[in-house]
Amino acid sequence: MAMNFSDTKLAFSLLTPAQMRRYALLFQLLQYRRWVQIGVALLLQAHKWKLPIHGLIKRNLFHYFCGGETLQECVPILQKLRSKGVNGILDYAAEAKSGEVAHAQTFSQLQETLSFCTTSMGPGFFGVLKLSALCDIQELEVFSTWQHTHSCTTVQDRLAQLCTQTQTGKGSLLIDAEESWIQYGIDALTLPLMERFNKERAVVYITLQMYRCDRLDFLRQLLQQAKEKKFFIGIKLVRGAYMEKERARALAHGYPSPIQSSKAHTDSAYEAALDLCFAERDIVSVLVATHNEVSTQRFADLLLREGISPQDTRYAFSQLYGMSDPISFSLAHAGFRVCKYIPYGSVAEALPYLTRRALENSAMRGSANREFQWIQTEMARRRREKG
Ligand SMILES: Cc1cc2nc3c(=O)[nH]c(=O)nc-3n(C[C@H](O)[C@H](O)[C@H](O)COP(=O)(O)OP(=O)(O)OC[C@H]3O[C@@H](n4cnc5c(N)ncnc54)[C@H](O)[C@@H]3O)c2cc1C
Repeated sequence: MAMNFSDTKLAFSLLTPAQMRRYALLFQLLQYRRWVQIGVALLLQAHKWKLPIHGLIKRNLFHYFCGGETLQECVPILQKLRSKGVNGILDYAAEAKSGEVAHAQTFSQLQETLSFCTTSMGPGFFGVLKLSALCDIQELEVFSTWQHTHSCTTVQDRLAQLCTQTQTGKGSLLIDAEESWIQYGIDALTLPLMERFNKERAVVYITLQMYRCDRLDFLRQLLQQAKEKKFFIGIKLVRGAYMEKERARALAHGYPSPIQSSKAHTDSAYEAALDLCFAERDIVSVLVATHNEVSTQRFADLLLREGISPQDTRYAFSQLYGMSDPISFSLAHAGFRVCKYIPYGSVAEALPYLTRRALENSAMRGSANREFQWIQTEMARRRREKG
């Protein structure tokens, strides 16, 4: 069944003409890569100097890509998405926090978010966290070397509590993937949780970044482990968000880049991982987290061709809030399970996420272009409709 990703009327039905114009301007500006890089550098510097820029960011970037500063501020967005058959994944935007006070604060905010999801969304909800907000980066780096087991007990204990809360609420918890030099530590903390909590279904989801050369092997080993130790696997499948940082670090430190040599290699690794997950569907659940139309169409077709219900709880598609609405709404319209990642938190906390979105959209001319074209198409359609 061909999905109609060009149905812009459906995709942008929640946006007023003024909002459409602001979106168009944003995505048009994001295409100027050099200016975006300069703008991001200036923003980060101004933030460091504590200049009063948060109002400016909130009006001009935050509102496009984030749900609000608090859970309550996200409620209207959740309701609007639900009216189109799309669910939300409330993503507390904290990352790379250091010190026990900050980690304890993140932990209690995550507990509050999971309670909110349990009551407002019910069974089947997804919670999400970034380990760099719960644990020092240096600790994750050391944990990555497998030499350390003691100092991580606090974070292990907190993770176990969050998993228990999610399991009791009948949801699933996604552990985001981050930079490769801390990802080994993230994996080392996540795998025991899958083994412990995924005895009856996938409660804990690990994230695989298929731009990394080693992830298909990692997936094969994980499958082997799950079969031997009898647990289910939950996988959030992404291409990966830190490509430029990864390559720059590898170059600076003189080690081989862990990133695939081309976009085509990343794409084929992504498809291969999806196929492998589907082949092992007796034990694997997948959240297909992508804005790529080909991957999305291909997997939706595969499910239908193999007679899998679009509502099968082992599968869901996910896009980021403020991006690829034509994909999200077309999938939901066709009956598939779709969830939008909705980052929320203070402007300061969301800044790393926002700068990543700006840079990613400008890095891939295709992506910003595609959003811009969708918006242009819809504005033209509305003009024609008006006469
Ligand atoms: C719901 C959701 C959750 C996400 N969670 C995470 C997460 O936890 N961790 C994380 O790292 N990212 C995460 N991402 C971001 C994701 O990894 C991608 O950066 C983003 O979605 C763009 O990839 P794509 O599959 O949507 O589309 P596409 O536009 O088809 O692919 C772009 C991606 O391809 C890869 N790529 C581009 N050029 C090259 C090249 N020359 N060589 C090799 N590879 C290349 C990069 O990964 C780039 O981001 C998430 C995305 C979504 C939608």
